[in-house]
Amino acid sequence: MAFDDAVRNSYQADIQAIKAAGLFKEERYIHSPQHSEIEVEFPLGSGLRKCINVCANNYLGLSSHPDVIAAAHAGLDSRGYGMSSVRFICGTQDMHRELEHRLTAFLGAEDTLLFPSCMDANAGFFEACLNERDVMIADRLVHASIIDGMRLCKAMQDTFKHSDMEHLEEKLIEHQDKRLRMIVTDGVFSMDGDTAKLDRIVELAEKYNAMVFLDDSHATGFIGRTGRGTHEHCGVLGKIDVITTTLGKALGGASGGCVSGRRELVEMCRQRARPYLFSNAVAPVIVAGALKVMDLITASTDRRDKLEWNARYWRGLLKEAGFDIKEGDSPIVPVMLYDAKLAQDFARDLFDEGVYAVGFFFPVVPKGQARIRTQMSAAHEKHHLDSAIAAFRKVGRKHGILGLSKKELIAMCAV
Ligand SMILES: *Cc1c(COP(=O)(O)O)cnc(C)c1O
Repeated sequence: MAFDDAVRNSYQADIQAIKAAGLFKEERYIHSPQHSEIEVEFPLGSGLRKCINVCANNYLGLSSHPDVIAAAHAGLDSRGYGMSSVRFICGTQDMHRELEHRLTAFLGAEDTLLFPSCMDANAGFFEACLNERDVMIADRLVHASIIDGMRLCKAMQDTFKHSDMEHLEEKLIEHQDKRLRMIVTDGVFSMDGDTAKLDRIVELAEKYNAMVFLDDSHATGFIGRTGRGTHEHCGVLGKIDVITTTLGKALGGASGGCVSGRRELVEMCRQRARPYLFSNAVAPVIVAGALKVMDLITASTDRRDKLEWNARYWRGLLKEAGFDIKEGDSPIVPVMLYDAKLAQDFARDLFDEGVYAVGFFFPVVPKGQARIRTQMSAAHEKHHLDSAIAAFRKVGRKHGILGLSKKELIAMCAV
């Protein structure tokens, strides 16, 4: 069938419906490296505006760290630009294996396999390791890439209510007849910033003979005393069977992900995981940069400590100003607005005040749960946060939402 007018009109109607629902997403153009302050062009053709960035996953401020950039340059010079191959054909360099060893040691695992992204790690893991005699029991708020990975796997899928350990226990009892049970969770949940009850999950896994899968993308490098992740924070280092995580957030923020865990599970991924077998190897320049990141985060906890301080300070500022935030102790601090249009207007007004943040709404979060997700970074200095809160207060006053409860916010948007 040709892409005729009828087909085009049908897509245009879909796009129009997205716009009418207030759910249309637009890109902003950044002309600078990723950092606490960035230069943004929006809309296209307007001038550049200097903004404080409070929405990057640049948790440790390593995305444009001079040592990481220098190491990436050296990697480019010594190993070239691209691999032009998947890993198992001719895409594996000594550096790939070295990075896998470093990640294994850092995460407290037995082995690690790099993937082009954590999305790919999640897309490939389940199908490679589980079959129709098994069951995956996932927290209802796990990341979209885990949901996609589970869809590709023949094992039975089930869920438990978010962080509800009694419900998880019921499910584990219900599924005792399966060959293998795998509990599936994020470490820090990306939209709410809360942390999985991993100590309880491990206890239940031991009691009911299940494996534990942890996606620690929003934790690796900074959660836990030495930044190893949610399993360190919860005192269960070495007890997690599979950890997937990303190089695209705290660990330099370029791209790449991994499956790390029990030797046999990682080996199954090397033999069978389709994104590993059929997608290109992580570029040498990124591997070299990531190796430097591993040096930096194992040598000192200064950055993770500063991030923790910033997160606590920022939460305090938002609360004092009268915003409705989600409780937690991660550097993800959602400012709840509930209404998609309000979240978009709020973000636009913040931008006019020199603060870069975006509104999150359906389908990224459930309907009626729109918010501005703010994220702290070790790259922020106190003066950045003091300037940012002044902008938040000003915009909050403009929209008349300071000091309002959840109920009042929802009622306000309904009219
Ligand atoms: C960001 C994220 C991913 C995707 O990571 P990429 O490496 O960018 O594909 C997967 N899982 C979780 C929980 C994430 O937050």
